[in-house]
Amino acid sequence: MERKERKRLVVGNWKMQLSHKAELETIGAIKNLLKNVALDVEVVVCPSFPSLAGVAEAVKKSTKLAVGAQNIHWEEKGAWTGSVSVLQIKPFAQWCIVGHSEQRALTGESDEEVQVKVSTLLKYGLTPVVCVGETAQERASEQTTARVSEQTKTILNKMTRVSLSKLVITYEPIWAISANQPDELPDPNNIAGTMLLIRKLAADRFGVEAAERLRILYGGSVTPDNVASFVFEPGVDGVLVGGASVHPGQFVNIIKQLQGGGSQA
Ligand code: PEP
Repeated sequence: MERKERKRLVVGNWKMQLSHKAELETIGAIKNLLKNVALDVEVVVCPSFPSLAGVAEAVKKSTKLAVGAQNIHWEEKGAWTGSVSVLQIKPFAQWCIVGHSEQRALTGESDEEVQVKVSTLLKYGLTPVVCVGETAQERASEQTTARVSEQTKTILNKMTRVSLSKLVITYEPIWAISANQPDELPDPNNIAGTMLLIRKLAADRFGVEAAERLRILYGGSVTPDNVASFVFEPGVDGVLVGGASVHPGQFVNIIKQLQGGGSQA
């Protein structure tokens, strides 16, 4: 499968940045800005839990926008005060971010727990956008390959060849997330190298053809000014956008820069 057969994907992670009213205004503005654009990029927005239903309603008739949640509990239901399950997001969301470093740090979530969330989402037909990436400390001690391999293998070990095409992996170096105020951004060549590593791990387990169906995104401080340097590297299928995704103009600018495919392999 060539790169152009994997549809490019942009996922907006709104985190806990906006009020309910602002989330509805933001989706309205994004819809409006995309109105006359013939999109060949898949776009997913991930609002806060309380706005999932409202944002889902706003994009109900849209063929351009889909909705994702920002996390789920690994259990399907039960006595878990304050948590939200796959069954509760399913009426509103077709996608879900899991293993985000902010959740991992907040709850001490392990790679195995992230893997169970991935399986739970796949069981109910939702697409997991699972985040992997190294901390600043791991980077400094040259542990990036080891850490990303460990996270990726834990997920892949419980997958089937068929489900691989329904998985999205985001390589998101934790130190490069805008909220962590990075002094520098990753070298696009290093990003491409880590993407190749992830795809090779998938190929080792399921064969080259199956691995070519896996979509791999880059995440970390993506803006309209720098997105082109990341997405036109070989093997990069799109971006996970945090800070810039709550600004409709910036978000749509990023989407437009991914239009038309562009890269190879
Ligand atoms: C994120 O944390 O998922 C993210 C991509 O954030 P930002 O774009 O703000 O670095």
